[in-house]
Amino acid sequence: MTPKDVHETRFMMGTLVSFTVVGVEKDQAEAAIHAATNEMQRIEDAFTIYGSVDNEVKHFNRSPVGQRIQLSDEVNMLLHIALKVQQQSHGAFNPALGALNKLWGFSQTPAPTHPPNKNRVEKKRQGLSHCVHESPEGWWRDSEQCQLDFGAIAKGYAIDRGIKILKDHAIQNAIIDAGGDLRLIGQHGKQAWRIGIRSPRDAKKMLGVLHLQGDVSVVTSGDYERFFMENGKRYHHILNPQTGCPSVKSQSVTVVAKQAMLADAWSTAVFVLGKKGVDLANKQALQVLGVDEDGQTFKSEGWHLLVQ
Ligand code: AMP
Ligand code: MG
Repeated sequence: MTPKDVHETRFMMGTLVSFTVVGVEKDQAEAAIHAATNEMQRIEDAFTIYGSVDNEVKHFNRSPVGQRIQLSDEVNMLLHIALKVQQQSHGAFNPALGALNKLWGFSQTPAPTHPPNKNRVEKKRQGLSHCVHESPEGWWRDSEQCQLDFGAIAKGYAIDRGIKILKDHAIQNAIIDAGGDLRLIGQHGKQAWRIGIRSPRDAKKMLGVLHLQGDVSVVTSGDYERFFMENGKRYHHILNPQTGCPSVKSQSVTVVAKQAMLADAWSTAVFVLGKKGVDLANKQALQVLGVDEDGQTFKSEGWHLLVQ
């Protein structure tokens, strides 16, 4: 008899993370999920710039301007990848917006209800395009407002590591879904996994359903995730580095890639770029489905192959 699916949910990384493991006995699935959870929590603690835990990223953000800081292999790796996506996305993705993000306050409690003062936004926005530098003695920042923030990529990395741990526990069929950002492996029984992509303005409506199997990630950046409305205008957590303000070109962008880390970074990047970001993402062999500011969808050429 085939064992039942094992399903567990934890609160992590500011969202509900659900694990579904298929085709193995409950004990094996639970041990694997437990180990994956620990690893994902470790990554959250290592990369967050909020809360009370201390870590290297916060240390870098507090370091005197110009001082060289040695970073661990893991932070070094994620920073290199983030800076590469920044370059490939022509600056739409920027991992040094920490001070600006804190000013807007979307990752803090209580959630903001008004935009910050324009002059303060302008001060925190300036000079961030190439402000993090690497030297043989370590990494350094060239201004106070230059502060690392891995908020647009670390969740994806944590999902990747969680899947790696499940595989190490001999799990072949599973999903880790962190509030709609997910990586799946194998199949669901004898079928592909079915992944619904919600409409940005109506959680009950679907833009489409993907049929996926093997080893693949689906990550969405949306302006409905953390936002407030003021005078009919929506203010949300994905900032355009050029203006320092919430990006206005998209309502949501979903990226399909093998690694959740890349899907995560690129969903944020294409969100900021809007339609013209699709070509850049395509160069990286990523598939994209977006909804622009008028509610019109845009997609990469290969997207239809994912839908059945
Ligand atoms: P996501 O939900 O993956 O699109 O990531 C949004 C989070 O990433 C925000 O809460 C910020 O911490 C950070 N962020 C906002 N705008 C950007 C940007 N343009 N580039 C990189 N990170 C960003
Ligand atoms: Mg992201």
